[in-house]
Amino acid sequence: MGIIGDIKSIGEIVQKADNIELYRKILDLQYEAMNVIEQLNELKEENRILKEKLKTVENLTFKGNMYFKNGVNEPFCSKCWDADSKLVRLHGDGAGWFQCPLCKTIVHNEVQIFL
Ligand SMILES: [Zn+2]
Repeated sequence: MGIIGDIKSIGEIVQKADNIELYRKILDLQYEAMNVIEQLNELKEENRILKEKLKTVENLTFKGNMYFKNGVNEPFCSKCWDADSKLVRLHGDGAGWFQCPLCKTIVHNEVQIFL
């Protein structure tokens, strides 16, 4: 049984004892426990996202004003990753120029034009 279930069980016992003040305290405790559980779940989700981001960072190489995933020869927008943690694939024109479909930054190896 979880903490909420335990508190409910205690609340039922206290309710039978007909002690209103104690019963209110148990309800307050149950409410606080639910808030703590909600905060814990939010922190777990935040931790999961941070771990995922760290794993992505460890697999990125910065070269020629673009990011590349290790082992993959596809360029990603450095502006979107650095500013918003979004990994956006750059679109190439076949002549060495690339553009980000999201922020419209244009990149050519050593040249980067922010729009
Ligand atoms: Zn971008």
